[in-house]
Amino acid sequence: MVIGIIGAGASGMAAALAASEQPEAQIILMERQARVGRKLQATGNGRCNLTNLHANCGGYHGQKPHFWDTALERFGPEETLCWFRGLGLFTVAEESGRVYPYSDQANSVVDVLRFALDRPNIELKTGFEVEKAKRTPAGFRVESTCETVECQRLIVACGGLAGTKLGGSMSGYKLLRSLGHHCTKLRPALVQIKTGWSGVAALKGVRANCRAEIFRGHNLISQSTGELQFTEYGLSGPVIFEISRDVCLGDGDWKCRLDFLPEVSREELAGELLRRKSTRLPVSELLTGILHNRLGRVLTQAAGIGGNGPAAEVPEDSLWNLAETVKGFEVSLSEPLGMDSAQVTAGGILTSEFDPETMESRLVPGLFACGEVLDVDGDCGGYNLQWAWSSGRLAGEYAGRKNK
Ligand SMILES: Cc1cc2nc3c(=O)[nH]c(=O)nc-3n(C[C@H](O)[C@H](O)[C@H](O)COP(=O)(O)OP(=O)(O)OC[C@H]3O[C@@H](n4cnc5c(N)ncnc54)[C@H](O)[C@@H]3O)c2cc1C
Repeated sequence: MVIGIIGAGASGMAAALAASEQPEAQIILMERQARVGRKLQATGNGRCNLTNLHANCGGYHGQKPHFWDTALERFGPEETLCWFRGLGLFTVAEESGRVYPYSDQANSVVDVLRFALDRPNIELKTGFEVEKAKRTPAGFRVESTCETVECQRLIVACGGLAGTKLGGSMSGYKLLRSLGHHCTKLRPALVQIKTGWSGVAALKGVRANCRAEIFRGHNLISQSTGELQFTEYGLSGPVIFEISRDVCLGDGDWKCRLDFLPEVSREELAGELLRRKSTRLPVSELLTGILHNRLGRVLTQAAGIGGNGPAAEVPEDSLWNLAETVKGFEVSLSEPLGMDSAQVTAGGILTSEFDPETMESRLVPGLFACGEVLDVDGDCGGYNLQWAWSSGRLAGEYAGRKNK
């Protein structure tokens, strides 16, 4: 039986390897780029955060909650690590649960998969951009500009629109729609957010641990705690990625409240600042030893304490105000960056049209889909690749079975 797989990214390679374990399965893996796993190579800032030890305890989003449960139960982080170990990859887990290759190079992940694909029953066609996929009496006909592939089962593993420079495209959505499926609205997620605050540029490159709360008008929409990174035009880092999904939801008056010392009370901080009044510190150093120097100065100015006079001359209520600013600095948000900069696409092909037990289409027998093209997106920290491995393995296993 011939199984065609469109896309040799994370989920497509997982699907090909799972299908190839089934007796009598012949796999044709089609990839439009010159090599496999191009996006995978850029993941985790070149380190590839390939899973998260907590990825089977929630952390996924989509219109149909729990669609992802079966795939993650069958092939969760533990099974993934065991599988990769079998492929020759050594890994290391951080305290947060994020898992990386021991080499700290995303290349290692791509390489072990690439070598594993070298099996007699897998044919890899790179530079093969699928333009059309049609049903035929015997299964499917898949066409690129210059070649046609016939297969009995077809897996669409084309990924999402996010990370356009790394190969993200509309292709998978279009192919599945042409076969009768439907798509939700697509939004960028795990992405930086631009601010309406001009002072942000002065903090470019500064990192800080904080608690971030996002408000639309007066309503608290989302919150997260973790590392924040300032960029030239806005806010980035895991804490922002986590809440960016919710800012993408629509227009309105959005703001972010940042607590730069979530574990210290306002009273405790004010006590320390009042103590500093009796020192010879200049006001620009009021937050020295507490926050990043540049951030400390910006917050001190934002609290209305300017100049470079002695801290001793700052009135007590101004120091309380500074403590307030550190614990609740408000920045207006303009918009999240676009799909080019996003790590994942929120939304996708309707999962109600697929069987979560097998990843097979409920509308077109013999058609399967996996990975980001479906309406499933995960939190920052290895959740999205885990979904790609879990759903890819499940789709490959069932597509490869002679009798489903
Ligand atoms: C910069 C960046 C960093 C990231 N870091 C992490 C991280 O550290 N951890 C994590 O969990 N997630 C991370 N992600 C998200 C993760 O990479 C994706 O969710 C995951 O790769 C999705 O797997 P996929 O197989 O669905 O799609 P992809 O990996 O994108 O693979 C799809 C493949 O299909 C091919 N293709 C598309 N259309 C066609 C066609 N018509 N014909 C033939 N081939 C086609 C594409 O070229 C591509 O190779 C990151 C994403 C980005 C952009």
